[in-house]
Amino acid sequence: MNREKIIVIDFGGQYNQLVARRVRECSVYCEIYSYKTDISAIRAMNPKGIILTGGPNSCYEDGAPTCSRELFEMGIPVLGLCYGAQLMMHVLGGHVCKAPVREYGKIEVTVDRTSKLFSDVSEKTICWMSHNDYIEKTAPGFRTVAWTDNCPAAAMECAEKQLYAIQFHPEVLHTVEGTKMLSNFVYNVCGCSGDWKMDAFVEQSIRAIREKVGDGRVLCALSGGVDSSVAAVLLSKAVGKQLTCVFVDHGLLRKNEGDEVEAVFGPTGDYDLNFIRVNAQERYYKKLAGAEEPEKKRKIIGEEFIRVFEEEAKKIGRVDFLVQGTIYPDVVESGLGGESAVIKSHHNVGGLPEHVDFKEIIEPLRDLFKDEVRKVGLELGIPEYLVFRQPFPGPGLGVRIIGEVTAEKVRIVQDADAIFREEIATAGYDRKINQYFAALTNMRSVGVMGDERTYDYAVALRAVSTVDFMTAEAVEIPWEVLQKVMSRVINEVKGVNRVVYDLTSKPPGTIEME
Ligand code: GLN
Repeated sequence: MNREKIIVIDFGGQYNQLVARRVRECSVYCEIYSYKTDISAIRAMNPKGIILTGGPNSCYEDGAPTCSRELFEMGIPVLGLCYGAQLMMHVLGGHVCKAPVREYGKIEVTVDRTSKLFSDVSEKTICWMSHNDYIEKTAPGFRTVAWTDNCPAAAMECAEKQLYAIQFHPEVLHTVEGTKMLSNFVYNVCGCSGDWKMDAFVEQSIRAIREKVGDGRVLCALSGGVDSSVAAVLLSKAVGKQLTCVFVDHGLLRKNEGDEVEAVFGPTGDYDLNFIRVNAQERYYKKLAGAEEPEKKRKIIGEEFIRVFEEEAKKIGRVDFLVQGTIYPDVVESGLGGESAVIKSHHNVGGLPEHVDFKEIIEPLRDLFKDEVRKVGLELGIPEYLVFRQPFPGPGLGVRIIGEVTAEKVRIVQDADAIFREEIATAGYDRKINQYFAALTNMRSVGVMGDERTYDYAVALRAVSTVDFMTAEAVEIPWEVLQKVMSRVINEVKGVNRVVYDLTSKPPGTIEME
């Protein structure tokens, strides 16, 4: 596949993935690599352009991440962002030092629109700044093409060598015309044609999968989540009945979810594949009895999944390939792609079935960001409610039930959650809130209902808005909606006599991720 590509060199900035996502939004494929990557490896990738990210260090300090001068002399266009901009100046003979005034936040920048970077950008434009150091003197051969009151060199270029540097962060949405600037770089400077389109991705993937699989047999663990659903459909389009999907209903799914998954992927659904549903509810409840610690529950659920999956695989017989719904952030965050610290160990790593013999793993979504997975899903005709499903944690309701998990508690939280979701949708809030659900606290208290004493559970409602799942705010749901949910939950769900709304933001709280 001869896809054009931009390479992001990561200096540990918090926005490294964002840079790649924005470039891809411009229909240009983009990958992230650590600044330690060998220059010859970079050259071998034959990128159309290179982008250097921001980073927490000061480039003039000993031991700060750096790059060789050669990077700027390969004839490949380079764009430095923030730390990357400072580093470019530092390496090429400019001067970077602590700024007399640090800049942080949205700041008006004046740009020279004769620069290719800023064509069609407003002369005065709001940009996101976040730096303590500044470029006191640009490197020889560079001209300044943007500035602010406190930052005399907010962007610079050496057009004949195709080198560009920006002190602010065009990848952050607070930089109002940032995507325009990145698009100017990849199209006007790097000369990209824009061949990263999801319909082409689908076609190419199907072809590549067919070639790889041949007449082999493929096994896929289907969870009903976005990633595994999209991966399964892609495989099904490529190899049809050579694919078997095993869907383990662990009894910790949302209300009716098991049936919904079966309706889409099962024999009466739309896809050409073998579908096996394993109803393992009782088995899981038995294993979970007595476990109260969240980590312990996670572990039991994960291990049991592997066991069930292995048993099913054995019944199928020969398996040549195993499908995994790994996506690009998993790759980057497990330390393989970028420079950011290992934030979480990839949920699949360490969770592979040991007793299934297979030749190879197929990860058809390994190059995609979540929003791209969704686009592929729509391209493949997967129902919207599945494609835009909220993130749902792997251990399911097991972690939304505080304390021991029992069938009774699962019923309570399923019913309460279904009511909450229904009312949020009726109120028209479902697409405005990124994630919302009911959890079951382990707290019981005395109440009175119909003149009788009750001693029942408290349900907690959680609803957050977040852009990137790194930070989140509790959503201001109208009082009437909350009241309606409260009264329905108390009336319709036996075992509950109290409903509370969780106001905690992240940090200090956390939110769930898939
Ligand atoms: N550490 C550098 C500074 O403070 C770069 C910051 C950044 O890349 N955001 O100026």
